[in-house]
Amino acid sequence: MSGFFNANEGAAHLFDSRSKSRMKRIPYFCLSKNSKSNTEEMKYIIILGDGMADEPIEALGGKTPLQAAHKPNMDYLAAAGRCGMLHTVPPGFHPGSEIANLSVMGYDVSKVFEGRGSLEAASMGVPIENGEMAMRCNLICIENGKIKNHSAGHISDAEAHELIAFLQQELGSEELRFFPGVSYRHLLKLRGASKHLHCTPPHDVPGQDFEAMLIRPATPEATATARRLNEVILRSQELLEKHPVNLQRAARGQDKANSIWPWSPGYKPEMKTLIDTYGFRSGAVISAVDLIRGIGVYAGLEVIPVEGITGLYNTNYEGKAKAAIKALRSHDFVYLHVEASDEAGHEGDVALKVKTIEYLDQRIVRPIWEALSTWDEAVTIALLPDHPTPCSLRTHTSQPVPFLIYRPGQEPDDVSVYDEFSCREGYYSLLQGKEFIEALLN
Ligand SMILES: [Zn+2]
Repeated sequence: MSGFFNANEGAAHLFDSRSKSRMKRIPYFCLSKNSKSNTEEMKYIIILGDGMADEPIEALGGKTPLQAAHKPNMDYLAAAGRCGMLHTVPPGFHPGSEIANLSVMGYDVSKVFEGRGSLEAASMGVPIENGEMAMRCNLICIENGKIKNHSAGHISDAEAHELIAFLQQELGSEELRFFPGVSYRHLLKLRGASKHLHCTPPHDVPGQDFEAMLIRPATPEATATARRLNEVILRSQELLEKHPVNLQRAARGQDKANSIWPWSPGYKPEMKTLIDTYGFRSGAVISAVDLIRGIGVYAGLEVIPVEGITGLYNTNYEGKAKAAIKALRSHDFVYLHVEASDEAGHEGDVALKVKTIEYLDQRIVRPIWEALSTWDEAVTIALLPDHPTPCSLRTHTSQPVPFLIYRPGQEPDDVSVYDEFSCREGYYSLLQGKEFIEALLN
């Protein structure tokens, strides 16, 4: 008996996930071969369910998706471990995944954050040199002067790459370069530019006049950069409107990718690696998302590729779990990021969000937990979202998120289920930013 739950096998007979009985709920291996307090031998895995946290939803009888989901493995770890709440978004920052994931990894975002573009560049293998500025560069759809969507109708990689290569040929120079990424997410690099700009994330302003959302300088020195970028945006619109890729898309009834939209400017980040900060031997990151992989690169983590990972609910969960288990053999620290719940939150799809949490429980947490239970090496498991993505709001918030830390051999607290309310009663209470990783590693 391993003590794991499989919803499909009705194994909840073994351990009732709602049971208050502590004795029944401590995994047998906590008390046996994995009962090591020797932190030198300890390994760590953070399982991050992007945007999992939410608010009570009427359609779920006033429960949150975490409360409504059948997730016996997460609850089991919460009961056997210690829980708390974590503030991942410092005051004054937008609750973006980049900010929240940097905080989870213990970085002071007010010191290290240099924009989304420069983080994604690291994952794309594009170096940012001193004197260069990087920006995320979306391909977007504009209709009748309004931003129709931030994704050009989720344009395919092949179409987008053709358009980005075309823009590079027509508008690129020594000073300004485009780099193709995934779907609508690309990179723009500018030399000798100022990052002190007011830019608008295009996903925040669907339906708005694009002209009112153009880039504005935040300092007088940035005036020339803002003017230059707005010229490039307008020129891209002339060039893209009649491009064959867009004519074909229009003929198929798809949205045109008829404008670039650069935002989130920054210079080269100066980030100490997690290895230097916390003294691991080595670590790894697994994610479908360039942004998280890029943070991993700066954090000194090996980026582990997994086939068939999509960032959506059809992602290769089993492949990710397997890759994480394998990575823990050779690394001390693994950061496993799963995007699906966030996407469900953005779509406002409550049932899908519950399902993504159940998938995470059954197809990630369960196999990892099962595998680790047979190891001689002790592995501490942490589980948390980066930020809430409430289905009702369809965007991120800055509210604290629930976390659990299960450390073999450690006395648990009284929390017996993992969710936004029960974790408030946990051992760690409310932590801020880097206090989470310090708690994890101590
Ligand atoms: Zn996120």
